[in-house]
Amino acid sequence: MTTLDTPLAKAGGVGPKVAKVVENAFGMVTVRDLVYHFPRRYAERGELTDIASLRVGEDVTIMAQVLRCNPHQMKSRPGWIVDVLVGDGSGKTLSLAFFTQKMGQAQWRASQLRPGTRAMFAGTVSEFQGKRQLTHPDYLLLDEDDAAEDFASALIPVYPATKDLYSWQVAKLVSTVMSTLEPQVDPMPATLRSQRSLMDLSSALREIHRPASWATVTLARNRLKWDEAFAVQISLVQRKMRAAQWPAVPRRRRDDGLLAAFDAELPFPLTNGQRAVGEEIAHDLAVEHPMHRLLQGEVGSGKTVCALRGMLQVVDCGAQAAILAPTEVLAAQHYRSMRDLLGAMGRAGELDGAEHATQIALVTGSQGAPARRRALAAVSSGDAGIVVGTHALLYEGVEFHDLGLVVVDEQHRFGVEQRDALRAKAEQPPHVLVMTATPIPRTVAMTVFGDLDVSTLTELPGGRSPITTHVVPATEKPTFLDRAWQRLREEVAQGHQAYVVCPRIGGDASTEDASLVDSDTPARRPAAAVLEVAPLLAQGALQGLRVGVLHGRLPGDEKDAVMRDFGAGKLDVVVSTTVIEVGVDVPNATVMVVLDADRFGISQLHQLRGRVGRGSAPGLCLLVTETPQGTPARERLAAVESTLDGFRLAELDLELRREGDVLGEAQSGSRSHLRLLSLLKDADVIEEARAAAEELLADDPMLEAHPELAAAIAALVAEDRAEFLEKG
Ligand code: ADP
Ligand code: MG
Repeated sequence: MTTLDTPLAKAGGVGPKVAKVVENAFGMVTVRDLVYHFPRRYAERGELTDIASLRVGEDVTIMAQVLRCNPHQMKSRPGWIVDVLVGDGSGKTLSLAFFTQKMGQAQWRASQLRPGTRAMFAGTVSEFQGKRQLTHPDYLLLDEDDAAEDFASALIPVYPATKDLYSWQVAKLVSTVMSTLEPQVDPMPATLRSQRSLMDLSSALREIHRPASWATVTLARNRLKWDEAFAVQISLVQRKMRAAQWPAVPRRRRDDGLLAAFDAELPFPLTNGQRAVGEEIAHDLAVEHPMHRLLQGEVGSGKTVCALRGMLQVVDCGAQAAILAPTEVLAAQHYRSMRDLLGAMGRAGELDGAEHATQIALVTGSQGAPARRRALAAVSSGDAGIVVGTHALLYEGVEFHDLGLVVVDEQHRFGVEQRDALRAKAEQPPHVLVMTATPIPRTVAMTVFGDLDVSTLTELPGGRSPITTHVVPATEKPTFLDRAWQRLREEVAQGHQAYVVCPRIGGDASTEDASLVDSDTPARRPAAAVLEVAPLLAQGALQGLRVGVLHGRLPGDEKDAVMRDFGAGKLDVVVSTTVIEVGVDVPNATVMVVLDADRFGISQLHQLRGRVGRGSAPGLCLLVTETPQGTPARERLAAVESTLDGFRLAELDLELRREGDVLGEAQSGSRSHLRLLSLLKDADVIEEARAAAEELLADDPMLEAHPELAAAIAALVAEDRAEFLEKG
């Protein structure tokens, strides 16, 4: 008997040759791989594929009816051609061409493809003399006996297929393998199954491949989606429970330390959200197990202050707190703003340092050797209570005296391995606070960050100025662009500052920003580039203004110098790539012009515009685009224009992008275990699976009472899956 773990080559009725073809086509090795290769869709018997929807270059599997079939000798060269015209019943037609040297072959083909015949055809759509056609498609006649046997039901599964393995060959293989498959013990606890009215696993696998009806397709998919969500949640909850067992040094709040002094001197009242999050963090830090908390919040909601207060609590206990930023610009900025915020409290050892003061050390990869040596000495002696840095903090001989808390800012660019590397820098695991750059939809948070506790800041601090956003269609109304530059000049004339954001650095075609969204319209001109736009503006529309340039290829100290000058008001305008995207805080900047804004994703634009309107003057964000109205790119821009609600935009972003993009690169390319589950559409399944996983594991953390479930999850949550979770 075959089991799910049997290699395909050993499965009854398959054989090594076919197994090799399947492995080459899809990378499948075991029976499980094949059985979990689900149909992409189902065609109803008798229903034909909409031919108008086929695109040139696409590999398709279609159902069509032969309208005409004409075998004839070719005029220009020897041999025969069978011209076949197939239709979809709506009047749309597609031609098929078969070539052969032998008359007999042509006649045989013609006898198979007689007018009226229905068949599935598979091939690549090409264009010939202005008409779409399939050359030498493979086909399966649907009226034949063995086809009828294979596709007994009214619903015909259409599988993801390749040139070497057609949909119906996959179908046949699946039924061969399934017919020899040992009956499954359903790993899902029976009570759970009955509570949720879920189909049993064997039926679900049978019905998803050979459905009796649309109703059973739905039931089967629902059950299998549940399995996916459940496996993910169980592994996350287990990971979380494991981490919660680790020992950690509690860092309890003191009333007579830096935190109390900081709170007393804070120039603004904390928002209710900040206060609540502060309590959560303070509580977590005081426990004998490490905090693993995600702090998410709207751009500008004041996450940094929350983090700093936690850091001070730890410093008050004589330990150290480190904050990791994704870029040198941000690290340098955190360093400056923490020095500002702490004032004399952060200047221990300096002439005007306060009593009990601590030191703040900045460690980056690009700082000069003497500065780095000084910083590292302060980190290892413990003189620096607060350590600010980039990834460089994780490696290269950085020794901490007593690392109590790690804050990871803008998690999207930080992997768990890096958190782990930092954790290894302390004797016991430090507490970890992760902050995200953008709000994340709940289901994504639950799936990607499901091993963390989540705190959310929803309100913005009072007194925050509104940001107005406008789409500037540069081609529809060229004067609009002039007007945009004029607005920028007006802001500068009033003493404010401006950002101009470009998608590219320029100077080298290969520097296209990797995070840009796919272009909707092919063969466009290259996007605006910092190195090209800045001189043009300086000599043209922005003549007379002090224009600086900022991008990822600048050496760290130059980047830092530009940001410092901008922060100090020595520059009016910074022309930049998205390096200013995350966290940069210059309250006097009031206007941002984003060129070729259509090249950015929704969340990215939202994040970008959060750089303006941070002070007392209202912010203005102008999204310049040449893409015409009605395109998906313009829809994205319209969405950003229409709302400032980051959570709403994050959801829209999810709707408009593919899941793979959301879950990160780690899993694209590798086979994802989320075959059916959609983070967007299946929020209810994910939430229920989470609750069920927590309930089940609360009594039985190792799933000792459910060995089949434990085994099934181990199989589903294989290496690649774990890896993608790690990368988050
Ligand atoms: P983000 O959540 O985007 O990281 P920041 O922490 O950078 O936001 O905060 C944005 C700005 O708001 C900073 O200048 C910060 O000093 C200020 N800020 C933070 N909390 C408050 C508050 N409660 N009232 C007024 N301003 C605040
Ligand atoms: Mg921030």
